[in-house]
Amino acid sequence: MPVSLDFRFDNSYARDLEGLYARSRPDTVAAPRLLYLNRPLAAELGLDAMALAGEEGVAVLAGNALPDGAEPLAQAYAGHQFGHFSPQLGDGRALLLGEVIDARGQRRDLAFKGSGRTPFSRGGDGKAAVGPMLREALMGEAMQALGIPSTRALSVVATGEPVYRERVLPGAVLTRVAASHLRVGTFEFLSSRGDGKGLRRLADHAIARHDPDLQEAPDRDLALLRRVVARQAGLIAQWMNVGFIHGVMNTDNMAISGETIDYGPCAFLEAYDPDTVFSSIDERGRYAYGNQPGIARWNLARLAESLLPLIVADPSEASVREGVARATEVLDAFPALYEAALLQGQRAKLGLQQARAEDEDSDRELAHDWLALLARQQVDFTLAWRRLADAAEGRPGGLLALFPEPDALSGWLARWQARCASEPVSPAERAAAMRRVNPFVIPRNHRVEEALTAAFERDDLAPFDRLMAALARPFEETPENAAFGEPAPAQVTACYRTFCGT
Ligand code: AMP
Ligand code: MG
Repeated sequence: MPVSLDFRFDNSYARDLEGLYARSRPDTVAAPRLLYLNRPLAAELGLDAMALAGEEGVAVLAGNALPDGAEPLAQAYAGHQFGHFSPQLGDGRALLLGEVIDARGQRRDLAFKGSGRTPFSRGGDGKAAVGPMLREALMGEAMQALGIPSTRALSVVATGEPVYRERVLPGAVLTRVAASHLRVGTFEFLSSRGDGKGLRRLADHAIARHDPDLQEAPDRDLALLRRVVARQAGLIAQWMNVGFIHGVMNTDNMAISGETIDYGPCAFLEAYDPDTVFSSIDERGRYAYGNQPGIARWNLARLAESLLPLIVADPSEASVREGVARATEVLDAFPALYEAALLQGQRAKLGLQQARAEDEDSDRELAHDWLALLARQQVDFTLAWRRLADAAEGRPGGLLALFPEPDALSGWLARWQARCASEPVSPAERAAAMRRVNPFVIPRNHRVEEALTAAFERDDLAPFDRLMAALARPFEETPENAAFGEPAPAQVTACYRTFCGT
């Protein structure tokens, strides 16, 4: 049943990358019911939200009706999972419907998650449950509102069918919008098979999509690597500055676009501790909060290795040596790029508006010592930054109240105040600027759980809607959203575990 909803598809992945996908179809589902529709995102895509929320629209978002122009396919990719290479992963419970050209002319992937088995499903059922899909929607919108590049959910539809996990759960299909779904693992897939021609097509496709200005560049593959390194350095710095823990930074979950992708066991820090791990499967803490920059670099090294056949001009020993040296040089820029992006973010969070080169070392130290204080006293990361803005206006009471031993803060506060005083910025202006970068509302673990439990156990979407609304305006602190700014009781956070949602 074709529908009249006007998706403007132009499917370059299907066209360009034969061999890197398997055509497949979404399962039809028994009783689709719309749980969430992202109306602003629908508008961005040039779609009529009213029509999407109607019967025909929901049939499309459930996979029961294919829109005109869709060419559903499962993407192939490989990946290093917890350090171990799997040559064949791929979309086991996802399907790319195609690429939509949005209202601003941007190409955006439209993909299902939870739409049934594909040729890459291995032993899995290809399905997803309501809870994890609503979780992905919440997290993506939270990141978006925080100004952090992210894939986003257009919709979540309950299927009316059971999904069998440790317990029986209600099933769901999420529709995801992404700049693309090209991953480090997509390159690894072709490289590990020695498919040089495929690699050439993939790199050209990625460049056309994300870095079209490089198309004519003489060293375009090395330049692509440089761009991805820069995007990831910026992205991870943003994660670190809001306390985001991805939880499963496998190379198949790292996007070439620089968007945060694959929200599974992710969660935000509460009390500041760089060793924090929430994911139940991350037993050794590989993807702990503080490890994320190092892991990003490790993943980028896997991308560099995969691109090497393109970077190296010919198989002579001299060429190989030169190619490796040039790729290594690009990779080695990651720590400095990351540190620069981190400091830029930290300065803004500290209320420092003048990024003077001569202050760089001492500003870095100021941020470092502040974080050390938070760590030592297990202070809530988000609230500490937020209350620092009040302190900038001469109201340090709320900040001091967060510290079990507030006296330990006085030396640091004096240093910070002296640094602030070196700039011609009024206290009110500084505090206002700090409140524009230090969120009050983040997706707190107990709030997320509360919203998801109400949705999948009682069919009550009101807590989810309220949380989503609060997350859309993270920098506002009002009586209405006060409850969303409160940390969970420490015992709750200490026991908090997240799952991959498989
Ligand atoms: P993820 O942990 O979501 O990044 O998934 C890792 C790999 O497992 C990907 O190839 C997924 O497509 C696959 N996968 C996860 N869950 C399922 C499922 N329920 N059925 C089939 N494949 C799955
Ligand atoms: Mg994944």
